[in-house]
Amino acid sequence: MIYRTGFGYDIHKFAKGRKLFLGGVKIPYRHGLLGHSDADVLLHSISDALLGAACLGDIGIHFPNTDKKYKNISSLIILKKTYELVKSKGYKVQNVDCTILAQEPKVMPYRDEMIKNISKILNSSNINIKATTSEGIGAIGKREGIACYSVALLSKQ
Ligand code: ZN
Repeated sequence: MIYRTGFGYDIHKFAKGRKLFLGGVKIPYRHGLLGHSDADVLLHSISDALLGAACLGDIGIHFPNTDKKYKNISSLIILKKTYELVKSKGYKVQNVDCTILAQEPKVMPYRDEMIKNISKILNSSNINIKATTSEGIGAIGKREGIACYSVALLSKQ
């Protein structure tokens, strides 16, 4: 068995007039995140972790923000396409672990729904999501946006 680990990081700033999506779940909040797609920072960081583990570059290579095709799309589609790329190299997802950094809103009430969405796409029941505030420190603490770190482990026989 071959094992490959990957790391992903992403950050998006809040913007007025946008809806907030995390893990494919629409979360009620006064702002959404700014981005070319729906700016789902959690799904982007997971996609980067998976691409990293499979040595397939990063999300910017596969889903360029200059491509009109990806404008305002659900990042669940990005995760799905990423999974297909990883699968085509013969990998299975062993587990994914994520930490969302958000001063606001509270994301833990939506955790189960996010995990359900991600588990379904990645065909894995070992998806974990954690959340933390930044204790009021820095850009995240000042409610300027949301960041996310993810690690993924892939295996192939
Ligand atoms: Zn992103």
